[in-house]
Amino acid sequence: MGQAISRRTFIRGGIAAAAGLAASSIPGVAAAAAPQAEIQLATLLDISKCVGCEACVEACNEVNADKYPQPKKPFPKMYPARVPVEDWSAKQDVTDRLTPYNWLFIQHAIVELNGEETELTIPRRCMHCVNPPCVKLCPWGAARQLKNGISRIDPDLCLGGSKCKNVCPWNIPQRQTGVGLYLDILPSFAGNGVMYKCDRCYSRVAQGELPACIEACPEEVQTIGPRDEIIRKAHALAKETNGYIYGEKENGGTNTIYVSPVPFEALNKAIEKGKGKPHLNSVKDTMAQANNLTAAMVFAPVAGIAAAVGKFVKLAKKNK
Ligand code: SF4
Ligand code: SF4
Ligand code: SF4
Repeated sequence: MGQAISRRTFIRGGIAAAAGLAASSIPGVAAAAAPQAEIQLATLLDISKCVGCEACVEACNEVNADKYPQPKKPFPKMYPARVPVEDWSAKQDVTDRLTPYNWLFIQHAIVELNGEETELTIPRRCMHCVNPPCVKLCPWGAARQLKNGISRIDPDLCLGGSKCKNVCPWNIPQRQTGVGLYLDILPSFAGNGVMYKCDRCYSRVAQGELPACIEACPEEVQTIGPRDEIIRKAHALAKETNGYIYGEKENGGTNTIYVSPVPFEALNKAIEKGKGKPHLNSVKDTMAQANNLTAAMVFAPVAGIAAAVGKFVKLAKKNK
């Protein structure tokens, strides 16, 4: 139990220090992780350790249940009708892909490892990119990046237009219709819901606790810590195991670093890909592309206005 408490308080490090524990001895926490929420934190996922038990998926669902959408029905009719209704409210038990009600799932890959056919399992969720296009290109300023490297979508500001999903190289955010700000401002003309994804347990992390999926994992697949420390650990692990790294350079660098015993090309071929099931391809830096930067600049002033409108609507609702 003592260890569980120590793991929960990894960022402030207070209890760990009081217990005389070095941060490096705490499972799930990298050596220099004691630390402040102001530094960019990354996670390291050692794929060779994952047994696919889904304890992380269950933990994610449990701690985030209060944040899941509670849509109002019937849904307003949309004009133009090209914005499709996406309703997952009757399929909340789906756990084999990303949905607004499932922000982490396990991908399965049958690959050849040391001359034998082996199944590897890969936890998948938002990569928390260092320079996230979902944040930089959200027209309404609803997606934000925190100083500790977490990117999150504010459900009170999101209109569900799905720009974040379209610009995300892995199409991570997932829409639920019938919820959010669009119902209050332009129910038939704006957005069509709210986008949902892993927020890397930002409120737990702010309180010095570990993300729930890291805490729940019986195999200690994930480690969290300052990004440079995590990168060093990933390289050391890859060297020791003749492994391969994903996430260090993808999309210009992410705060989710995978180490695999087989090349990611092999994993990418073997996993099921498609809607809500992200690939493991190599990815160019989206934000380095000039046309996207132009779009970001065009959207920037609109984002401020939308955020102000959102705050006003929220305040007006509170004062009703
Ligand atoms: S809890 Fe750990 S071992 Fe189980 S599926 Fe998740 S990451 Fe893999
Ligand atoms: S993986 Fe996609 S949703 Fe997550 S931070 Fe990067 S761009 Fe945004
Ligand atoms: S960090 Fe939190 S929100 Fe993200 S997958 Fe893990 S438990 Fe879910």
